[in-house]
Amino acid sequence: MSAKFARLVESAEQLLLELPWPRTFEKDTFLTPDFTSLDVLTFAGSGIPAGINIPNYDDIRQTEGFKNVSLGNVLSVAYATQKDKLTFLAEEDKDLYIKWKGPSFEVQVGLHELLGHGSGKLFVQEEKGTCNFDREAVINPETGELIQSWYQGSETWDSKFSTIASSYEECRAECVGLYLCLNKDVLRIFELEGEDAEDVIYINWLNMVRAGLLGLEFYTPETSTWRQAHMQARFVILRVLLEAGEGLVSLQHTTGADGKPDALITLNRNKILPVGKPAIERFLRRLQVLKSTADVAGGRALYGRFSAVTDEGPERFLSLRDTVLLRKEARKMFVQANTHLEGEDVTLVQYEGTAAGLIRSFSERFPEDAELLERHLLELSDADTHFWASQG
Ligand SMILES: [Zn+2]
Repeated sequence: MSAKFARLVESAEQLLLELPWPRTFEKDTFLTPDFTSLDVLTFAGSGIPAGINIPNYDDIRQTEGFKNVSLGNVLSVAYATQKDKLTFLAEEDKDLYIKWKGPSFEVQVGLHELLGHGSGKLFVQEEKGTCNFDREAVINPETGELIQSWYQGSETWDSKFSTIASSYEECRAECVGLYLCLNKDVLRIFELEGEDAEDVIYINWLNMVRAGLLGLEFYTPETSTWRQAHMQARFVILRVLLEAGEGLVSLQHTTGADGKPDALITLNRNKILPVGKPAIERFLRRLQVLKSTADVAGGRALYGRFSAVTDEGPERFLSLRDTVLLRKEARKMFVQANTHLEGEDVTLVQYEGTAAGLIRSFSERFPEDAELLERHLLELSDADTHFWASQG
């Protein structure tokens, strides 16, 4: 897998030219990111990411560059999917999904981290007045006019776009993944050709549509707010694809075999190129132009419109949210390994993928708190939770 990512890094400069904005909106020189794939022994936190792109500060990424870390053994555990857990998909899509989820996830994560977060330029005017772009020549492709706004002095992407900055940026990176996964060179880098390549494109797009629907779990209707940047980003993409029309995507309210509300997602694979691609292209260009030009008002208006969750329209998203919550899969728990010293030798201690294994891994990691941990964590064994043993 790291060989594919290394090839993607090598082709990055070429692939950046394929993105739907003028060369003037791209960084003057692409700072080749440092790429590493790690198997993690333990990741401490409330969730374990599959990949990390650091730093998060766009102004630093812009001048100093960035680093990609993919957590290899987390990715491979994340691939494991059981058919009965694949809510909202048609039966015939489930087998294809299980077959291609891994490879499509690999393509999307690589593109998202490297060419998503790594692409695009911010227009900046330094305190002294010098600009990092030609004010007399750079044209905004959305308006056909010269650039009207930019970051001034110490203003940064995060300071300007504040509350929407992180979700908006995740959305831009996800769109880059959807857009560039259609590129034959990209697919070849990931050793995908012919029918396999077609299937990976289909599953990657289908997964995004489904993720947008599942994302509704992270929307709070009482306060009309989103609680998770990535989930909001995927919902926004789902909305963009629905708005593209022409039967590309449909979301139907259905009734499950248990008599309770259910939903069915359909994506027409023949419409991805003629309908989906231009829709993502237009949206991605708009996201980039508003970002580059520090156009907060424009950015908020656009992002806010697609993030809104209402019960209007044929989809009735608020009702779909109830269905998503009803059908929600239990949260995955990762059982992580420990090491201990035997003389000079480090030995790996692995645990079974069960509640008992999880508790044992924690109590052996923190022996001084073992008793307390045991009491708290035992409650987990009653909860409806799935356990995943991450093998080193
Ligand atoms: Zn990201």
